Amino acid sequence: MTDPTLQDLPQPRRGHDGGIDTGPRNVELDRQNPDLITPPETDHGTVPNLKFSFSMAHTRIEEGGWTREVTQRELPIATTLAGVDMKLNPGTYRELHWHKQAEWAYVLEGSCRIGAVDQEGRNFLDEVSEGDLWFFPKGIPHYIQALDKGVEFLLVFDDGDFSENSTFMVSDFFAHTPKSVLGKNFGWTPEQMQRLPEKEKYIFGGQVPPALESDRVVSPSGDVPRTFKHRMRAQPAMQFPGGSVRITDSSVFAAATTISAALVEIEPGGLRELHWHPTDDEWQYYISGFGRMGVFAASGLARTFNFQAGDVGYVPFAYGHYVENLGNEPLVFLEMFRNPRFEDISATQWLANTPPQVGADTLNVPRSMIEALPKDKHPIVR
Ligand code: MN
Ligand code: MN
Repeated sequence: MTDPTLQDLPQPRRGHDGGIDTGPRNVELDRQNPDLITPPETDHGTVPNLKFSFSMAHTRIEEGGWTREVTQRELPIATTLAGVDMKLNPGTYRELHWHKQAEWAYVLEGSCRIGAVDQEGRNFLDEVSEGDLWFFPKGIPHYIQALDKGVEFLLVFDDGDFSENSTFMVSDFFAHTPKSVLGKNFGWTPEQMQRLPEKEKYIFGGQVPPALESDRVVSPSGDVPRTFKHRMRAQPAMQFPGGSVRITDSSVFAAATTISAALVEIEPGGLRELHWHPTDDEWQYYISGFGRMGVFAASGLARTFNFQAGDVGYVPFAYGHYVENLGNEPLVFLEMFRNPRFEDISATQWLANTPPQVGADTLNVPRSMIEALPKDKHPIVR
């Protein structure tokens, strides 16, 4: 190797095998994906792609904000859930709308006001900030408005085919309804309707709203029976030697009937243990840090992917996997499931609670090694 710029680049070689990539290469992507360039020797066969970055997604730039999405079109294996990353500047609205899918959201930065009205006319109005989440059931109309610092949030929908570009918006609905019908429906005169939008507004600028209490509308039907807001990061975390986990499912957030989640923080050197999920595919969003996920797909098939902030990972139902922090800062990510309950199977807990001779005979190890395994769950180890 004579070119010094090649010295510290990941190279497709392992021991005496492989070689140096001196040809055209996308160095930034190679640095982000060392386990694709030089996979662990245990990787084998063809496992479908399980990674897509929001940085590779089309960005829709609007008045007062922007948005991009990772759906089944970007990541074909992700059939159960789809995600949207959205930023709204101070005062900016995400227009009054509804959709066929339920919406789960996690606030990444800043804060916003969210409002909804249900099928009984019961209303909901609240504010969420970093670490909080919300859940709107399918078909329930809602809006979002950024507060004085602006807001960025992750939206997750319970259908991989969802698109943020095909929601039902009030401006679009009214623009495609005859004015005579709108007039009859709402009791409005033609003069009053002169400035109705001619097409959807979607994301558009506005003034930061007044204090929450002064903005409330009292519905004769009352408030929604179950709040659509949950303070996920305010939940006490389960602490483990290698990191912490917060699980938010319908057992702690009753309104979230179709999506459950875990917020995982893995310390440097820590490992989200070998496990799988007995009910559903897993959709991941990486918030910070750098790490890798190894996935086992049965029949000798295994593949490893690297992740950092803004990346989406996916694990098909039942596939064995682990997530390892490879960096010097905590690896923080969300795991989401299209299920009201969070469930996982720990390989350690499984072996520890099976007669130890079975594990010893299967793995060719002394019985004492199996007996030493912890019988309770340790999702993150070091
Ligand atoms: Mn929505
Ligand atoms: Mn998992």
